[in-house]
Amino acid sequence: MVKRFIVDSMLGKLAKWLRILGFDARSRHISSQRQVSEWMTEGFIVVTRNRRWGSQHPVVQLDTNDPMQQLQQVIRICGIRRDEATPLGRCILCNEPLDLISREEALGKVPDFIYETHVRFHRCPCCRKIYWYGSHPRRIMDRLEHETGWSI
Ligand SMILES: [Zn+2]
Repeated sequence: MVKRFIVDSMLGKLAKWLRILGFDARSRHISSQRQVSEWMTEGFIVVTRNRRWGSQHPVVQLDTNDPMQQLQQVIRICGIRRDEATPLGRCILCNEPLDLISREEALGKVPDFIYETHVRFHRCPCCRKIYWYGSHPRRIMDRLEHETGWSI
């Protein structure tokens, strides 16, 4: 089953990292145990730093402030494999799955040199942001590869 996450709104950067890897990571303010139970019933993994919500899977209780270490913890605790990640699958800002668009549709909407050197473009149906391989800065992807040990 595809893993989906409710990420405590305190952990905004972690939610973005999960989206870069293509996961459904919904940023939510967590205010009650009942809410947590409902999300669990719906099949979500609930990620938080707050001890109030427990630490039994599918609640993942993190013990670090560093977003990259948080990502590592989530990957380890949830047993996420490289082949479960779909980089460029999701908008980092909206969490929406991206649509593959024709190259022509990207014309004029991305820098010329990007248009000239890329064939596949993806667009967020919500905010219309356009993504391509390389649109995440290399240093971010390098860090991700370093921390996950995956080749992305
Ligand atoms: Zn978007």
